[in-house]
Amino acid sequence: MEAEVGDEQMGEDPSVNALCERVADMLGKESAVFLPSGCMANELAIKVLCRPGDDVVCERSSHIVHYEAGAPAALSGVTLMTIDGDRGRYSVEQARAVMRKASFASPGTRMICCEQTTNIGGGALWELDDLRALTELAHAHAAFAHLDGARLMNAVVAQDVAPSEFAYGFDSAWIDFSKGLGAPVGSVLAGSRDFIDEAWFYKKQWGGAMRQAGILAAACSFALDHHVDRLADDHANARRLAEGLAELPGLLIDPSLVDTNLVFFELAEGDANAFAAALQSHGVRVSVVGPRRLRAVTHLDISVDDIDAAVAAFEQVIFSTSDSE
Ligand SMILES: *Cc1c(COP(=O)(O)O)cnc(C)c1O
Repeated sequence: MEAEVGDEQMGEDPSVNALCERVADMLGKESAVFLPSGCMANELAIKVLCRPGDDVVCERSSHIVHYEAGAPAALSGVTLMTIDGDRGRYSVEQARAVMRKASFASPGTRMICCEQTTNIGGGALWELDDLRALTELAHAHAAFAHLDGARLMNAVVAQDVAPSEFAYGFDSAWIDFSKGLGAPVGSVLAGSRDFIDEAWFYKKQWGGAMRQAGILAAACSFALDHHVDRLADDHANARRLAEGLAELPGLLIDPSLVDTNLVFFELAEGDANAFAAALQSHGVRVSVVGPRRLRAVTHLDISVDDIDAAVAAFEQVIFSTSDSE
């Protein structure tokens, strides 16, 4: 609330400018732009780097495939060329197999996308070498590489790799502040100066240019100062939750696959919506991602005690359901 503010779209908001410079520097890029959401970051990158009809290569469970309201098709006219990968990741060989050169009959690959960490893939981590190899493959095909870093800082903490190392070789990269970093609003997209200049055109066109956005940016800067190292606590809590759930009957989960702060599990039987509703009545909120598949997330409002309370709530739901049957 006390942040210094100005007109963001005139480049006059000092709190926004400071955040953008800091994130550009963190990601090893020339320039950056503050955005209201991560979806806008993904979609601006696709809009600026691709032309209608181009192929964008990504993993089948990607956020751009499932949760951006069809924007790649609606706003940029691209074709998503999806790969069935491993927990949201894919290999150079898999990418090479679907990449193609444009001909009179087929579109060409213009972009490859990677999520670090993967979302629906389960918070899985890409190895730095694999990301590097994919950016090299993209460039060898005269295509661009885009890094969806909604949870990049989780990977930074989990793997002890600098954000600029992960973003190296990517033509566009962004981080989200309203996920585990715990700020109320915002993401920052970074890239070359020309890329960001062009992104500004569409940010304005799409209604994302702001005014006194410094109050939001200041919260993001606060998150970078105070909420990065503690992501390790979220990872430990997620593992603790997964281990607790693995002890319960009727839940399918492998705690060894919980690398960061996302915990996916399946019901051996029953309906995920009913299960989620029952959990909610015990004060635990989870999301439904399939007929029997659910997702729990740990974050800065969740303590170790909350995890133990959550496991107890799961236990109550499971045993009260089996009693009534
Ligand atoms: C949340 C998320 C986004 C979108 O971010 P919003 O800030 O919610 O628009 C994009 N990609 C991934 C992998 C995400 O998890």
